[in-house]
Amino acid sequence: MRAGFPDFRLGAVLATSFTGTLSERHGEPVERIPTPDRLLDWLALYGLAVDACTGAQLDLARELRESIHAAATAAALQDGLPTAAVQVINDRSAQGRAAAVLTSEGTREWRIGSIDDALGVIAADAISIIAGERDGRLALCASPTCQAAFFDTSQSRTRRWCDMNTCGNRQKKARFNAKK
Ligand SMILES: [Zn+2]
Repeated sequence: MRAGFPDFRLGAVLATSFTGTLSERHGEPVERIPTPDRLLDWLALYGLAVDACTGAQLDLARELRESIHAAATAAALQDGLPTAAVQVINDRSAQGRAAAVLTSEGTREWRIGSIDDALGVIAADAISIIAGERDGRLALCASPTCQAAFFDTSQSRTRRWCDMNTCGNRQKKARFNAKK
């Protein structure tokens, strides 16, 4: 890990963890993949390690990220999906040539060779969530400065925050202080 950059927020769901690399979109936004190397770090944590990333590829990744955010937000609000965002997600999905590989331990790994492949995996993950193919519910974080789209897989489907350790805690503290 490279020092001097904002920490990653690591969630269990690939696509919405990726959109979480920009947080506080409605407050003071924190960019967690400010450089190509930092994107490589993030991808490696999700089993999508690649060797190199250019500035242009980082731009593509961020464009995909914001498109997923826009489409997932619309889906959470049960609005129509934004056409431009859908196009970007589909383009990135089509560009990727990742292969799912079953290991002898019975786990899945991705065989990828480029940023395009990694972004294709993320785009496909977003598609499966937005299309409602996975067990869970898209929702928006209750923190007013965040409002990130997240995928709630809790049994009761009543999760309120994108991340318990950050947004959830901050809201609890704010309420506690307000009561004093
Ligand atoms: Zn949040």
